[in-house]
Amino acid sequence: MHRMTQTDFAALGLSEPILRALAARNYTTPTPIQARTIPHLLQGRDLLGIAQTGTGKTAAFALPMLQLLTKSNLRPRPRMPRSLVLAPTRELATQIADSFEAYGKHLHQRVAIVFGGVGQSPQVQALQRGVDVLVATPGRLLDLMQQRHCELGDLEILVLDEADRMLDMGFLPDVRRILQRIPPQRHSLLFSATMPTDITQLANSLLRDPLRVEVTPPAATADRIEQSVHFVKRDKKRDLLVELLSDPQFVRTLVFTRTKHGADRVAKSLSKAGIEAHAIHGNKSQGARERALDGFRDGSAPVLVATDIAARGIDVPEITHVVNFDLPNVPESYVHRIGRTARAGRDGIAISFCDETEQEYLRDIEKLIRKRIPVAGKQAGGGRPAPTEIPRPQATPAKQPVAADAARGGNPWQDRRDDEATDDKAAAAQPAPAPRAVPDRFRPTPRRAPGPYEPDPRQRAPRPEGPPKPRHERQRRSGGRPAMPFAVDPEVRRERDAEHRRPQPQGPAHGHGHGGGRPQGPRHGHGGHHGGGRRGAQGHRG
Ligand code: AMP
Repeated sequence: MHRMTQTDFAALGLSEPILRALAARNYTTPTPIQARTIPHLLQGRDLLGIAQTGTGKTAAFALPMLQLLTKSNLRPRPRMPRSLVLAPTRELATQIADSFEAYGKHLHQRVAIVFGGVGQSPQVQALQRGVDVLVATPGRLLDLMQQRHCELGDLEILVLDEADRMLDMGFLPDVRRILQRIPPQRHSLLFSATMPTDITQLANSLLRDPLRVEVTPPAATADRIEQSVHFVKRDKKRDLLVELLSDPQFVRTLVFTRTKHGADRVAKSLSKAGIEAHAIHGNKSQGARERALDGFRDGSAPVLVATDIAARGIDVPEITHVVNFDLPNVPESYVHRIGRTARAGRDGIAISFCDETEQEYLRDIEKLIRKRIPVAGKQAGGGRPAPTEIPRPQATPAKQPVAADAARGGNPWQDRRDDEATDDKAAAAQPAPAPRAVPDRFRPTPRRAPGPYEPDPRQRAPRPEGPPKPRHERQRRSGGRPAMPFAVDPEVRRERDAEHRRPQPQGPAHGHGHGGGRPQGPRHGHGGHHGGGRRGAQGHRG
C-alpha cells in the first residue's frame, strides 16, 4: 500500500519529501484534478481550474507550488512573499495554510497567513521575517500593502482560489488592486467553481495560455444521495421542516435558504419549536459563525441553516441530511448543496421543498441532473399530496429523465471526463441517449415573472460601477461587456447591496466578512494545534 502511494503520486513528478508527507496523510491516489494538473504545474504552466472544495484542489496547487519554491531555492526577502494564495474567507485561508504546512512538513518553506478581524501586528512581524507562501484574504492584504508591510514585487507564483466566491462577496475590486502590483512575469493559477462573466474576464487578463481543467464536485454524482421533493405551500414550509426534524434520524442537518434573512427566520422558528439551530451567513460575526459551526460539529446544535455562499467554505463531516428549504435559482447550486451530504463514500439524504413559485427552478435542476426527483413519501406517480402539500405540476416534465447516474462507478472523485465515459456505457442501455444537459450557468435575464418576494429586477438601480480596471486589463478587453446583472438571485443581491451600504467596521479597505474587528475568537473546529492569529505571528517553518 505504502509503495503504491509513492508510485501514484510519484508518477506525477512530485519529490520524495512531498511523497512522504502525502503517505503520512494516507493519500493513496491523486484525485482527478491533481492527476490532471500537477505535471503541468510543475512545468510552470498557468491553470484555470473549474472546481470547488471537495475535489482535492488545494493539494493540486499546494504540492507543485511547494516543489517549485523549493527547487528555485531563493530566500524570501523581508515583506516580499515569494508566492501568494488569495482566498475569500478566513476559514478557507486557514484550511489552505494548514494544507501547506502538512504537505510541506519535510521542506523548509515558510507559510504565513493574513486575514482581517484580528490584530495586524503578528501578521506584520511574520511578513517582516520573510515568507515563501502567503495565504491571504484580499481586504487585509491590501491594507497591509497600503501600509507598506507587504510588497509583491518578488512574487513567483499567484493563486486565486474560489474566485467566484470572491466576486459574490464583493472582493473583486480589492483583488484587482492587488493584481496591479504583481510583476507581469509570474506563474498564475485561478480556481473557481463557476465561471460568471466577471471571472472569465479576470482569468483572461491574468492567465497566459492556461491549461483548463474542469471537474465536478465528488458527490455531484447524485446517485449516491437519496433525493426527494415536497411540493409545499410557501407558508407551510416551516411547519413541514419542524415535522421532519422531529425524526431522530436527522442527526446532522444542513438547511439551505436563498437569503440571509430567510436563514435567520428559519433558525428562529426552529428554536421556537424546541430544535437547536443556528444560522450562518455573511452578516454574522466571526465569533457567531464559529459558535454555530462548533455546535453543529459537536452535535449540540444538530441543525445549521445556511445560505449557499456561507455553506460552501465550511468543512463538516457526516451531514446526514440536506434540506433545501428554498430551491436555488442557479441549478448547479443544488448539486453543490446536496454534495454536502454523502461525502467520502457515505450515503446521504437530500430533501427539497418546492413551493408554488419555485417550480421552474425545480425543472432546471432536474434538467441539469437529468433525473426526476421523486416526490417525498410516494412511489413515482402515485399517492395523494399531504395536507401541507401542493400537487406536482404536470406541465414541466424534465427533459429526458435518465438512469445514467446509476451506471456510475464508486469513485467519489469522479470528474467530468469520467462522467462522459460512464455516460457512454449508460447510453448503450438506454433507448435515447440524453445529451449532456449543461445549461448556461448564469443567465442574463430573469427566467420568470417576479414573484411575491422577488422585486422586478428591471426596476432596480444598476449595479454601481467599481473602480476603473487596471490598465493591463483594459488593454486586453476589447468589447467591455457589462457584467451579467442577474447572475445572483435578486433577493440575495438586494441583501448584499444593503450590506455594502452598511458602514464597514474596520475602515474602507479591509475587514469584509471578518467579524467586524472582533478580537480573535475561539479556534474554529478542525485544523488542530495552532490558531490562525498565532500562525500570523509564528506561522512559518524553517
Ligand atoms: P479540497 O478540495 O482541497 O478542499 O480537499 C478536500 C478534502 O480532500 C481535504 O480534506 C483533503 O485533505 C482531501 N484530499 C485531497 N486530496 C486527496 C487525496 N489524493 N486522497 C485523499 N484525500 C484527499
